[in-house]
Amino acid sequence: MIFFNSSVVYQNSRAFERRFKLHPLVQNLLDNVLIFTKLSLKKDINGRITSTVSTLEEDVNFHRKSTTHLEGRAFDFSVKDLDEQEIYNLKVAFQNVAGHLGAWQSGGGKTDYKYRCLIVDHDIGLGRHLHFQIGKDIAQNFKD
Ligand SMILES: [Zn+2]
Repeated sequence: MIFFNSSVVYQNSRAFERRFKLHPLVQNLLDNVLIFTKLSLKKDINGRITSTVSTLEEDVNFHRKSTTHLEGRAFDFSVKDLDEQEIYNLKVAFQNVAGHLGAWQSGGGKTDYKYRCLIVDHDIGLGRHLHFQIGKDIAQNFKD
């Protein structure tokens, strides 16, 4: 799909050049998030993807705790001009269809409670974005 591989969709050349190093499931998820944004939310998708695959050095610089970008299991999606309702609609839509693919996250505290987390809504200093991630087990067990 040439349109969604266009360099203008990506905020920087690093994210663009490394997009095909993403896990195939993550590439598919990324395309579907862009389609949803364009067709359902009717929002511009240019500059929307801010990060794909990272290097260890970049993870250290960004103080990233997880290895999901390094391992090609995550991408970052900027919510720059979306309102709260649109962000909510997008999160719910993808949680419903792909929540079972999310990375395992610890519930915190002293419990062993863990849950699958597909979307992390946060700002690590580069603007608010949705971090989409798939589980290591999902990535490893994937067969096409
Ligand atoms: Zn991220």
